[in-house]
Amino acid sequence: MRVPTLQPPQFSTEQVERLRSRRAAGSLRGLWDSHVHLFPDAIYAALHRWFDANAWNIQFRGNAEAVVDQLVVSGTAKAVALAFAHKPGVSGYLNRFVAELCQAHPQVIGVGAVLPGEPDDLAIVDEAIGRLHLRGIKIHCHVSKLAIDDPRVMRVLARCAQLHVPAVVHAGKEPSSAAYGVNTRTLCDVARTRSVLRRLPDLKLVVPHIGADEFADYLELTRQFEGLYVDTAMACADYFDHGPDWAQLEACADRVLYGTDYPIVPYDADREISVLAARIVDDGAFAAIARDNAARFWQA
Ligand SMILES: [Zn+2]
Repeated sequence: MRVPTLQPPQFSTEQVERLRSRRAAGSLRGLWDSHVHLFPDAIYAALHRWFDANAWNIQFRGNAEAVVDQLVVSGTAKAVALAFAHKPGVSGYLNRFVAELCQAHPQVIGVGAVLPGEPDDLAIVDEAIGRLHLRGIKIHCHVSKLAIDDPRVMRVLARCAQLHVPAVVHAGKEPSSAAYGVNTRTLCDVARTRSVLRRLPDLKLVVPHIGADEFADYLELTRQFEGLYVDTAMACADYFDHGPDWAQLEACADRVLYGTDYPIVPYDADREISVLAARIVDDGAFAAIARDNAARFWQA
């Protein structure tokens, strides 16, 4: 992965005007951010070390409470906190941490972690949903070195479908890094995701980053499977060279959830929503992406 130098987004005069008028109308407040990361201090410190060595410069380095405050300042009404585990035995601890944050901050919606194949993985899922009242399960294919169609992942996804909670699976190839110790470009493929959706027709699935870098294929897949959603995190921030086709994104707006990946990003919390507000033409499509889809999805 080539890490770009941070540049301001480039907007046409028309886009600048659209952003200005939406901001004036208050349309950049009351957002639902379906992709944030709230971790204990020690995990944040480990993430900062990893990103400093292997990826981009994380800009905001406050603790979880400070991240929640910052999101509120930047217009977020609800934030979906995605935990993920990098080794066996930590999921339960992360899930309890997220559940406590949800108790303290009603604007936080918690999604639990599990490492598929770790001891008691299904019991960890059951505890996260049943006892801790988390609202879904997150799996990161790169971090876990597991493909979405791996039998261990499939078992967890089947349990999510059975419990009627969404799974959020980083199943896209990017952002890739040799530091994951696995070739994410062969581990991940939209064909694998398609086969999972065929085999688990009741699964509600969110694929972050619009499935980067198979943007067009993932957006097309949302036309075929009504349980499939994508989030925008980092894919619509004008940071990487490649992103989705904006006309296709707008045509599929009913399945797109605004998300930021905050605070694991090399820019300010409001960058991604500014780009979306400048580039999405239709007001209904913008409202769907910025809040309406997520309000329906996470409250259902
Ligand atoms: Zn993320």
